[in-house]
Amino acid sequence: MRVRVLGSAAGGGFPQWNCNCRNCAGLRDGSVRIRARTQSSIAAADNDAAAWALVNASPDILTQLRANPDLQRGEALRDTAIASDPHVAEAYLSVTLAHLGEVEQALAAADAANRAKSEFLANMSSL
Ligand SMILES: [Zn+2]
Repeated sequence: MRVRVLGSAAGGGFPQWNCNCRNCAGLRDGSVRIRARTQSSIAAADNDAAAWALVNASPDILTQLRANPDLQRGEALRDTAIASDPHVAEAYLSVTLAHLGEVEQALAAADAANRAKSEFLANMSSL
């Protein structure tokens, strides 16, 4: 099974539209070099990655697909690597739920890495 973290930020992504903390404000005004993040979402697939199931798809899906072009191959007029058969998605989600602990660990690790990077960059920019 493959799990890809598509986004790791809280709802609305990062920077938060209504937040003026040093990181959010710094990203908006360019004074802090931090990468924007999209809302938490994962894609899960069997090991052959022929079809992916989305978990917690959000309004950020277009940005997330652009960052993961193999999920949107564009080989036909209406084409995607995201499973349209609900049974396929259901099977993946069953596997995903069985591995929920691993998924949560992956999301937590991605979030911790992004937080550490943000803090590091914020500290570097204040020197
Ligand atoms: Zn903020």
